[in-house]
Amino acid sequence: MATMRVEPKPELAPMMVAQISKPGGDFEIVEREVPEPGAGQVRIKVQACGVCHSDILTKEGLWPGIQYPRVPGHEVAGVVDELGAGVNSWRKGQRVGVGWHGGHDGTCRECRRGDFRNCQNVKICGISYDGGYEQYMVAPAEALVSIPESLTDVEAAPLLCAGITTYNALRHSGALPGDLVAVHGIGGLGHLGIQFANKFGYRTVAIGRGGENAALAKKLGASEYIDSKSTNGAQALQKLGGARVILATAPSSKAMSELIDGLGPNGKLMVIGATFDPIEVTPVQLINGSRTIQGWAAGTPADSDDTLSFAELSGVRPMIETYSLDKAEEAYARMMSGKAQFRVVLTIGE
Ligand SMILES: [Zn+2]
Ligand SMILES: [Zn+2]
Repeated sequence: MATMRVEPKPELAPMMVAQISKPGGDFEIVEREVPEPGAGQVRIKVQACGVCHSDILTKEGLWPGIQYPRVPGHEVAGVVDELGAGVNSWRKGQRVGVGWHGGHDGTCRECRRGDFRNCQNVKICGISYDGGYEQYMVAPAEALVSIPESLTDVEAAPLLCAGITTYNALRHSGALPGDLVAVHGIGGLGHLGIQFANKFGYRTVAIGRGGENAALAKKLGASEYIDSKSTNGAQALQKLGGARVILATAPSSKAMSELIDGLGPNGKLMVIGATFDPIEVTPVQLINGSRTIQGWAAGTPADSDDTLSFAELSGVRPMIETYSLDKAEEAYARMMSGKAQFRVVLTIGE
C-alpha cells in the first residue's frame, strides 16, 4: 500500500466556476481558488444567479474591452461571506444581491450629480469583473443590494436585472395610474413588466405573438391581450385610445417599429429589449402627437432596493426554471431559445 501524503489544508476548498475563455467560446466548468476581497470590496457566497439575455455580451465578446476568461452573471443572490478593508456598511451573513450596475467611482461629474447610472467609470457585473456563475464572487461594496427576508434567492435573482429594468423603466415612463400602458412581449422581461404595470395601477395591455399566452397575460394582470400575429397591434391600441407608454421588451426592432403608431398623444415607446438592428420611424410619426422613443437600462443598486421592496409589498414574483451551475451551457441555451417559462436561474448554493 502506498503511503498517503498529507497535503496542507487550504483555507477554503477550490470553487466551481462557469467561465467563458474567448469570445464565442462555450461555457467551461473549472475550479479556481476562492477570491479574496480587496479594499472596498465584499466577497459573496453565491446562492443563485439568473441567466439573462445580456449575458450574450460576455459569451460572444460583444462588449468593447472585455477581458477573458470571464465569468458572466449579473442577477446574483447570495450571502456576504467576507469583508474587504474599509467596508463597514455590510455584515457577514447578510443576504445580498448584485445586478447589472456593478459599481461606480463616486467622483466623476455624473456621480457628483448623483447620476450613478451614467458614471463615466461604471462597472458591469459579469463584464467588468467576474459575475455570479460561480460559487464565490467579489464585488465593490457600493454595488450590493439588500435582499428582503420574504424573497427566496431564486426569486430575488431575476428581479435584479429583469425586475429592476421593467420596474424602473415603467416608474420613469411618465405614465400615471389609470393610463393605458402596453407591454410588448411576454417573456423574461414582459411577464414581470405586466405584473408591475398592473400593480402600478395602469390599464395594462399585453401584446404577444399568437394566442397561447393570452390566459397567462391576464393572470399576470393584463386587462386586455392583443395577438400581434392575427391583429395589427398599433391599430388595436388606437382602438383602445392609444397607449401612453409601450414598454418594448421583445428584442425585435421590426416589432417595435410596427407599434409606434399605437402610441397616443404624448405617448412614449420605452425600449428595454436590446438588439443591434435599427428601429424605423419617420419624423412625422414622432411630430404628430409629440411622441417620444426612449431607451432604459436597469438602474442603480438603490433602484434595486426599491424593486425588491416593491416586489415584497405587492407580490410581484418571477416565474423561473432552475439549473445547477455545472449545467450553465444548457441553461444559457434554454434562455437563448426563447422557450423558457420565463427566467432561467442557476442554483449554486447548497
Ligand atoms: Zn440582464
Ligand atoms: Zn462616476
